[in-house]
Amino acid sequence: MVISRACLSLAAATLLAGATAFADPPAGTSTAAASVSLGTPMDGRLERGVALPARGAGFRLLSEARARKARFGAAELVGLVEEAAAAVVRRHPGSVLTVGDLSARKGGRIDHHGSHRSGRDVDLLFYLTNRAGKPVVSPGFVPVDGNGVSVTPPLKYAFDAGRNWTLVAALLSSKRADVQFIFVADHVRAMLLAAADKARAPRWLVARAEQVLRQPGRKAHWDHFHVRILCPGDDRPECRDVGPLWSWAK
Ligand SMILES: [Zn+2]
Repeated sequence: MVISRACLSLAAATLLAGATAFADPPAGTSTAAASVSLGTPMDGRLERGVALPARGAGFRLLSEARARKARFGAAELVGLVEEAAAAVVRRHPGSVLTVGDLSARKGGRIDHHGSHRSGRDVDLLFYLTNRAGKPVVSPGFVPVDGNGVSVTPPLKYAFDAGRNWTLVAALLSSKRADVQFIFVADHVRAMLLAAADKARAPRWLVARAEQVLRQPGRKAHWDHFHVRILCPGDDRPECRDVGPLWSWAK
């Protein structure tokens, strides 16, 4: 059941990849100057937000996010997600990144989140494999333990550390936006850094990953990445960052 559904999605993604993967300019770019992220992720709003398409090269938007209309972001964030998903599917053909909530069309308060209000936050679900190690499309929020095995449903899926590291590497080396944080549980962070080591990732990239990968205080984030970007340069000073501005940020 799960496998056939995954295969269908993989096939659809492959078709889409052929059509849109290398469109020029990539989606998001042409409107980069149009969107404005205002205030902070906790109390801000969004002007002229860009909608993430329901599907694209190497990604799909979770149906719940579509239903909640939480598919809008700063153009820089939407472009970053599209670019990172495309980078993963280039390296790992057939991969589909499942994207959760971004922000509402005009930002502001949104169900289930304390932030996600200014178009600079997005939830990305983990790349998973089945028990045989075959990549599957993440069906939703699947928590994983320190051994990288799914807790709910128990033992059904495994955290695909290699592909998840490829995603993190793509997010942190993009010129579209500067990532401020990738909130994720400490045990997931450890698996990612081990995968970076195995992949012989460059030192500068690992250093960035060590800075941005953080377990938030209360909620562990063991079933998704919560990615937050710094204010796009042309949205300042009305856009306000909370927390560190990394030395490598533009
Ligand atoms: Zn989130």
